[in-house]
Amino acid sequence: MKSFIYAGSPARILFGSGRSADVSSAVESLGCRRALVLSTPHQKADAEALSERLGALSVGVFSGAVMHTPVDVTEKALKVAQETEADCVVSLGGGSTTGLGKAIAYRTDLPQVVIPTTYAGSEVTPILGQTEGGRKTTVRNASILPEVVIYDPDLTLGLPVGMSVTSGLNAMAHAVEGLYAQDRNPVSTLMALDGLRAFRDSLPILVKSPHDPDARAEALYGAWLCGTVLGTVGMALHHKICHTLGGSFDTPHAETHAVMLPHTAAFNAEAAEEELTAAAKLFGGSIGGGLWDFAKSIGAPLSLKDFGLVETDLDRAADIAVENPYWNPRPIDRISIRTLLQQAWEGVRPD
Ligand code: NAD
Repeated sequence: MKSFIYAGSPARILFGSGRSADVSSAVESLGCRRALVLSTPHQKADAEALSERLGALSVGVFSGAVMHTPVDVTEKALKVAQETEADCVVSLGGGSTTGLGKAIAYRTDLPQVVIPTTYAGSEVTPILGQTEGGRKTTVRNASILPEVVIYDPDLTLGLPVGMSVTSGLNAMAHAVEGLYAQDRNPVSTLMALDGLRAFRDSLPILVKSPHDPDARAEALYGAWLCGTVLGTVGMALHHKICHTLGGSFDTPHAETHAVMLPHTAAFNAEAAEEELTAAAKLFGGSIGGGLWDFAKSIGAPLSLKDFGLVETDLDRAADIAVENPYWNPRPIDRISIRTLLQQAWEGVRPD
């Protein structure tokens, strides 16, 4: 056993079918009495229902959350929080809504209750990505980590199959990169492996039976594990490339992770062979090819071409992806990154 540092995430996790009924006690457990409920426009009705459930503990709903946490939206929400004298936020939704709650917490230190309805995993990380003037920046700070997370699989029953698949693969990417992270520890590795197993077992069921309650619970459990890995250890090539593609070419977040994962895993397979062996076994023996076969079998997007990216964009993407040096198990050079992007663009099975 090598030496390691383990710093557990201090968040309180409530998990289980019907658990969102505990939202009032979650707010009160933080010593709060004036919650502002956050959502996207798409989930406004659900946020209003949650606000009603909170009764006198709610000061209202801000339903303007959008992808990539634009600073101008955060400012609008902050104004509402100030006007209503909110003393905490309750974020109901996926990574976009969680991002808005984190952006408010980062600026005000208001505590957060998050009720995730996708598998993105943002709710258990101290990381905030926000955009201003077309630039996405990332901050990591203890104030960003939500205090309470309520995982209620019932709220994911309506997550469309396509989003369930891409969101699940997005979470799985956190786990795969966590397995070879330089600062991994035995607990992050256990969580990563069981997170991958949970998605391997549940996503194929959800594709056929989207309302299967056991598979929904298993997938959400996987999301918690994979998100926690993202929140506790460093990421590498995969997240860097997805950040580049999303930030500079506006490719869709979860879908980009889904397409890239088999390719980045294959790229690192030899350099991190020992670290990836157990994960490779979960997917038939080869991490890159196995993940690609799995993604294909559940109907995931397989090609960057499908997001409107043209072949010449790959040159610029490769330039940006190697611009600033960062750690990766296999050293990075422009030629191999350009080849990797070409394969992902064409949608071929990685070796
Ligand atoms: P999302 O939050 O943007 O949701 C996409 C759409 O699906 C929204 O309209 C949302 O309202 C809707 N939706 C969510 N749950 C639903 C449900 N159960 N049923 C029906 N519709 C539902 O998507 P996402 O992939 O969860 O989040 C992406 C964002 O999260 C990106 O901005 C990404 O950068 C961020 N993210 C951040 C971290 C982090 O640690 N900071 C981690 C992962 C993702």
